[in-house]
Amino acid sequence: MTPGTSLRRRCFARIVSTGHWRSRANTPWVLKGYNLMRLWKIGGLLCLLGCAHAAEEPPPRDPSRATAHYTVTIFDNFGGATVRVCFEGASVRELVPVGDSVGRALRGAWVEGETLDTPRGRILLRQPSRASCVDYETRFGTPTFRASDSSAAIVSQTQWLWRPEPFPHELDASVRFVLPADGQVSLPWPRSDAIYFPEQSAFFTSVYGVFGSFDRQSFSVASTNVDIARLGSRPADDDTRRWLGRAVQATASLGGRFPRDRVHFIVVPMQSQGQQVVFGMVRRGGGSSIVLVPSPDATVEELEGDWVAVHELSHLWLPRLYAGDRWISEGIATYLQEVLRARCGLQSNERAWTRLQEGFERGRRSGTGRQLASESRDMNRTGAYHRVYWAGAAFALETDVLLRKNSDDEMTLLRAISDAQRVWGSEARPVGASVLLKALQEASGAGFIEELGEKYAARAEFPNIPYVDSPEYREIRARITSSAHEACGVSAESSR
Ligand SMILES: [Zn+2]
Repeated sequence: MTPGTSLRRRCFARIVSTGHWRSRANTPWVLKGYNLMRLWKIGGLLCLLGCAHAAEEPPPRDPSRATAHYTVTIFDNFGGATVRVCFEGASVRELVPVGDSVGRALRGAWVEGETLDTPRGRILLRQPSRASCVDYETRFGTPTFRASDSSAAIVSQTQWLWRPEPFPHELDASVRFVLPADGQVSLPWPRSDAIYFPEQSAFFTSVYGVFGSFDRQSFSVASTNVDIARLGSRPADDDTRRWLGRAVQATASLGGRFPRDRVHFIVVPMQSQGQQVVFGMVRRGGGSSIVLVPSPDATVEELEGDWVAVHELSHLWLPRLYAGDRWISEGIATYLQEVLRARCGLQSNERAWTRLQEGFERGRRSGTGRQLASESRDMNRTGAYHRVYWAGAAFALETDVLLRKNSDDEMTLLRAISDAQRVWGSEARPVGASVLLKALQEASGAGFIEELGEKYAARAEFPNIPYVDSPEYREIRARITSSAHEACGVSAESSR
């Protein structure tokens, strides 16, 4: 395809939370209301994908710690679940949903057959108990994702997991599923045989899982365990593996390692009229999981050349940020999606710079005139995604250029991110921009990053960004996208 055609089709779409819907003709798809209904129609029946995990040893049992054992029985139609949770060593006053908005999924709760009060979706226990079991039933809301040729269901754990409050300081939790005949489950949590052992963040941050019948594969690349659950028959196993394996390698090339031990993909094919990947979204509750919605007709070359997977994976180098600060994480991920693909031969250098240039133009043309931090905070309401993402990408490019210029390429944005990432590790809770900016500044040894970030956040107009096309910066641009084929683990010869 010609770059021009590609770029027009690849326009940014609305981003819902940390997800990215890509539309035709710059028309946003919104994850609610009419447009979502349209997606459901396109998809037909709910279609989800699941993924597999390598079995792991269960954590050793420490008798001094509280335990919570969940048994989750999924309805035959995947429309809900009955849950029994038994606690030991925890003084529990109530059970609360993971997200405030999902309490309405609760249909009732009981202790030994006696009905409990459930105001606003919270399950009130009559008296704090250190050894008791609670039964409750939930109905899953209308699924967000569906595929026409799969009956598997993609369900957030917020639909069935209620956590104990007060939350024990140390809790060993296990989850066992009882599934309809031949059903499978896939979640990004450690597991041993059929039992999952969710970490604390699974009780506070949403993540998606898959129930039902789906294809799964696991492999290791860049020293990372990759689990893929795919709903529907295409892209084929080999193509899916090549596409996502190379995306992981390209993302790992940033620092010579991937920032997680494992990553979980849910692949939900959906017809998208010429687009290769129409949606991507990363979630971190108890593990890193990425939902991707590719076209079943996309060739493996088209999938590899697409930006969405590398964008979502790039988020895993960064912490989650509060809404007003997300321009930085979205901006850096947007910058990395272009630079990493060029370095690893998944797109040509020329195409990377053209896409950056055109992205900046889209960012300049859009927005509501707010300061960037306000624009970022309100973007789910205003739809100012281009403005937020591309202003953030301009910050990333400016930072990269200045670091390189001041250090003769000894220091780069990629190196600074790789070093800074150790500050937040795999933390799932959001942090403020100051944490990220300070870590980048300290990792790079450069004195300008915090101040530059504050300047961008307060700026209402789109930044001037001469680095993208000025002849003065031609050599630095060439170095930014120069081949890193060894780090990428594959030939960096561009195929397009
Ligand atoms: Zn993003």
